[in-house]
Amino acid sequence: MSVAPALGERGYGDAMTSLALTPSLAQTAPKVLLHDHLDGGLRPATVIELADASGYAGLPTRDPGELGAWFSAAASSGSLEEYLTTFAHTVGVMQTREALVRVAAECAEDLAADGVVYAEVRYAPELSLEQDLSLVEVVEAVQDGFRLGEAQAKASGRSIRIGTLLTAMRHAARSREVAELVVAFRDDGVVGFDIAGAEAGFPPTRHLDAFEYLRRENAHFTIHAGEAFGLPSIWEALQWCGADRLGHGVRIVDDITVSDSGSDSGEVRLGRLAAYVRDKRIPLEMCPTSNVQTGAAASIAEHPIGLLARLRFRVTLNTDNRLMSATSLSRELMLLGEAFGWTLEDARWVTINAMKSSFLPFDERLALIDEVIKPGYAALGAP
Ligand SMILES: [Zn+2]
Repeated sequence: MSVAPALGERGYGDAMTSLALTPSLAQTAPKVLLHDHLDGGLRPATVIELADASGYAGLPTRDPGELGAWFSAAASSGSLEEYLTTFAHTVGVMQTREALVRVAAECAEDLAADGVVYAEVRYAPELSLEQDLSLVEVVEAVQDGFRLGEAQAKASGRSIRIGTLLTAMRHAARSREVAELVVAFRDDGVVGFDIAGAEAGFPPTRHLDAFEYLRRENAHFTIHAGEAFGLPSIWEALQWCGADRLGHGVRIVDDITVSDSGSDSGEVRLGRLAAYVRDKRIPLEMCPTSNVQTGAAASIAEHPIGLLARLRFRVTLNTDNRLMSATSLSRELMLLGEAFGWTLEDARWVTINAMKSSFLPFDERLALIDEVIKPGYAALGAP
């Protein structure tokens, strides 16, 4: 066990520290998103139109407002397994090139409209093979869609860049193939790899072959770990698989104790794993609303992101699934403003954390920080 300093302010000593977040400030501020699922962010109206076009008959309703509400209600079950069942309806309509181009383009446009300047969006190509597309054709379609969406956002005066993460499903056996796709498309906008799906019973070590291949290829990957499952899944993701980042990682808090009584009240002790994660600056892709829906956190106010940010872990803020959580990155920021008093300075901190942690080349990360993010916040913080 190591003893950490007592909780305290992060102490930027900056004029922006006290600027409270408002919905318009949270939306205007340049933001960076590292954990967003393409199949979790469709517009409800698009789901309905694509279902009509493809003959998909499984939707619970054909009214866009009702469908949006249905997704967030169905996803709020308190269990990761139940939450994941809602994806049948989005993946079900993502089976043609036209559908994939449209969904990817609208994703880029919607994120840009929310003030996101850089996003890493992930999806599992193996889930779009129900008709006649090959894995390569799926990836090509989504890449074309992102480029189209970036261009459409630019035409409406907003600049966004999308990096793609290809996901392999942890219960399936295609991870090596998907990892090879990541390497094949690394010069065409695919920046990394991920595994996702139900954690219990499907440890990341089932996919060691894929991770070892990626490491030999000097490629980047993140792993969904420590969401529904505790410290062992985080430990495996880092120490067996070699993940660069942790998808969620919220249960790392189980390795942290905060004394709540006596003379050492407020003293924080980190276990070996939590200390390793903080010392190595392992990025945590935290998704507060999604975690409350799946039961990984009891409420936003009790979400470990408040403590982890105070302890200066490499915290990043993310949406996970905008449709299932009825959320946006600016809304997540507002929730933390309300729960923990996060200010504009905290938004800048978490944004720069995310940009530093992206899978883009270092010089490109730096350029976005120096030329887009810092000037963007300076403009908002100016008197
Ligand atoms: Zn996720």
